[in-house]
Amino acid sequence: MTGIDDLPIRDELRGKSPYGAPQLDVPVRLNTNENPYPLPEELVARIAERVTEAARGLNRYPDRDAVELRTELARYLSRTAGHTVDHRQVWAANGSNEVLQQLLQAFGGPGRTALGFEPSYSMHALIARGTGTGWLSGPRNDDFTIDTEAAVAAIAEHKPDVVFVCSPNNPTGTAVTEETVLALYEAAQAARSDRHEHGALVVVDEAYGEFSHHPSLLPLIEGRDTLVLSRTMSKAFGAAGLRLGYLAAAPAVVDAVQLVRLPYHLSAVTQATALAALEHTDTLLGYVEQLKTERDRLVTELRAIGCQVTASDANFVQFGRFDGAAGSHAVWEALLAHGVLVRDNGVPGWLRVTAGTPEENDAFLDAVRAVTKELK
Ligand code: PMP
Repeated sequence: MTGIDDLPIRDELRGKSPYGAPQLDVPVRLNTNENPYPLPEELVARIAERVTEAARGLNRYPDRDAVELRTELARYLSRTAGHTVDHRQVWAANGSNEVLQQLLQAFGGPGRTALGFEPSYSMHALIARGTGTGWLSGPRNDDFTIDTEAAVAAIAEHKPDVVFVCSPNNPTGTAVTEETVLALYEAAQAARSDRHEHGALVVVDEAYGEFSHHPSLLPLIEGRDTLVLSRTMSKAFGAAGLRLGYLAAAPAVVDAVQLVRLPYHLSAVTQATALAALEHTDTLLGYVEQLKTERDRLVTELRAIGCQVTASDANFVQFGRFDGAAGSHAVWEALLAHGVLVRDNGVPGWLRVTAGTPEENDAFLDAVRAVTKELK
């Protein structure tokens, strides 16, 4: 049988595996940083209404520029993220993964490089590979914060075209300070090379921004034309199945991604559903508050059990510290045997658990207590 490698596939894709967390049917699934709360019934009804309306026009292509949706996303950001933006500064796509892909299609690509500080969201490197962008791995401190001085030095040395800063960072939960982002931005501005006369685009991936103890980094885009903030409705809005991500940046960045986006990339059904969800922002942000409380409880209780826990500003918690990669994998398997699925991100000695409902978190904590005894 023909395998992938028998095909005339691009060399850099040979022998690689696709991104994918296990989708296992177990009682407690806390492995993909989803929101555990289903959308409220009144929102489900409103989605049905708006989608019905959209369905009547499905013979036509959707609004290619998604202006109504971008206007409502801009309103949401202006109301909750400490800085006023309008729709010309906002762009939306099918999940923030697609937003990031469009950014790399426009600002990365063959002969260009992107740099991220690892461990971080593994899709940054994978989207780089998919777009033919070279990938550079920058340093972090032992506590998983960004070592600003080393990061600035890495940018100065490699002169990348795109710099990824994930805050709060997946999988560690660590938030990045405003000072660090500004220092990285300055370094990126200065990183001109023989190849190009421009600095690097800095992409702040704030997929988990709403869960942070700190305010959004959105205000930093003011006056900084190469700073981009990326967000998603997959986490705080509890709508991972919707596939809606967005960015906020200078209008020129929005113009640039329009050069590479596929025409009509956001279906009328997606736009209608996202608009319905945005009408229920306050209810959904109420769930975020509950999840933040549960996240903080997970941190406290895991520490009481004797685990090391990385300070978290996200809807998940990184815990350990187990005996290397084998140790963390053994604990991952033992938790699974207790019906609890967490994530082994390949950070040796550490695992990641998503904050679920109070009942799911109790089941997880009971399983950790049992497993720590079993594996002693
Ligand atoms: N950025 C980060 C840091 C993430 O963890 C994720 C999802 N796990 C995404 C972006 C992509 O999310 P989506 O495509 O669902 O918006």
